[in-house]
Amino acid sequence: MAVRSSALVLAVLARRRVLRRHDRWTPERLAAYQDRAAAELRRWAVRRSAFYRRFHAGLLDRPLVELPVLTKAVLMEHFDEISTRPDVRLADLERHLAGPGAAELFGGRWFVCATAGTTGRRGVFVWDRREWVEVLASYNRAFDWAGVAAGPTRRVPMAVVSSTNPSHQSARVGASVHSRWLPTLRIDAGDDIADIVARLNAAQPQVLVGYASMLRLLAEEQLTERLRIAPRFVFSASEVLTDATRALAAQAWTARPFNVYGATETSGLAADCDRHAGMHLFEDLVITEIVDEHHRPVPPGTFGAKVLVTVLFSRTLPLIRYEMSDSVRRATDQRCGCGKPYRLLDAVQGREQDALRFPGLDGAAAPVVQPIVFHHVMDDIAAAGWQIAQRDDGHLDVLLAHPREVDTEALTTRLRSALTARGAVAPAVRIQTVNAIPRTPLGKAPLIVGPTTSIPP
Ligand SMILES: [Zn+2]
Repeated sequence: MAVRSSALVLAVLARRRVLRRHDRWTPERLAAYQDRAAAELRRWAVRRSAFYRRFHAGLLDRPLVELPVLTKAVLMEHFDEISTRPDVRLADLERHLAGPGAAELFGGRWFVCATAGTTGRRGVFVWDRREWVEVLASYNRAFDWAGVAAGPTRRVPMAVVSSTNPSHQSARVGASVHSRWLPTLRIDAGDDIADIVARLNAAQPQVLVGYASMLRLLAEEQLTERLRIAPRFVFSASEVLTDATRALAAQAWTARPFNVYGATETSGLAADCDRHAGMHLFEDLVITEIVDEHHRPVPPGTFGAKVLVTVLFSRTLPLIRYEMSDSVRRATDQRCGCGKPYRLLDAVQGREQDALRFPGLDGAAAPVVQPIVFHHVMDDIAAAGWQIAQRDDGHLDVLLAHPREVDTEALTTRLRSALTARGAVAPAVRIQTVNAIPRTPLGKAPLIVGPTTSIPP
């Protein structure tokens, strides 16, 4: 395993050198590259996938933006026909993820991850080794731009506080990059905060990576001096980094946090450069269209309702104009002193998941329960979607869309004991079956909803 991991890291470092050259391209050269790469992907998809042959029939000569949009529902429904590899079948992948060997490669060669996503429907994604190098290189680019100089001659200890569930991409990426140059301490964001603090104090990481909500908690711990680390680089991933959290982190560590925007489907999608003028889209890896509800492009300065992504390196599961429900905004001022040709995003909204507060056992202070605690329990539930909502009276509503064989009594027990284990008084739990997870006005179906932001059931 260690040998394979080192070989992967070497491949990623080689890819990093190539991507650095792209950073010096002119916008014209980038556009020409995108056209070529998209055409190649489209030809591959139509040749190798029965689904795309129908989906794109008669459209091969049309521009990318005239192709139909691929939703997650359609992707999951036609997965086996979209897959370009006969040995990659959804039912087998699902079995693999649910089994004891979920942390291993599927069939000895495929990297598989699942995501609950923000639309409330579970997605399964798969990459071969060559694609996985692109996935790792895309996240590595964020480190590279920030100036983290890990490599064969430089050991940079890193701590990642996020999911350690092997079916989550962040966990899998972490396992892949762990090497003697980038020794990675992985801490589950659902662990007790005092325990997280103790482990970070012992590790003294130079690079700290976490969800925005976790960075906020850790910054508070640092300011009260329970946490005593001095990371040179702080990265916020997966969630919206608010100005308040940014400021708090800067105060705690004097290192301004770098924002990274990614998704399981696309891997790294955008990141801050060292000027912090916004996040540059990784346009040589993914073509990102920012659109309204009707898939019409929105201008800079306006939030879109969705993004459509064309993942230029996707081959096993080609993603062409794949719809994600993220709401992002292009910066009106597209100038950045760094000279990279990639366009700038200045905001991502609506990806928050609430951390919930519960009364503490034995009158102790109210523990804050991170979203991941619920993910641990809910990830294995066989349902088309789920949502946990904390109501004003404190009880939890668990909504399940089209559940299959769910033992509600066992689920209630698991949720309540997960909360008790965090020092919380377990609330009443009400499990309901719904046709669809309720959406916010923006079309989001958040997985975890606190009382103040609750959407009407
Ligand atoms: Zn820049």
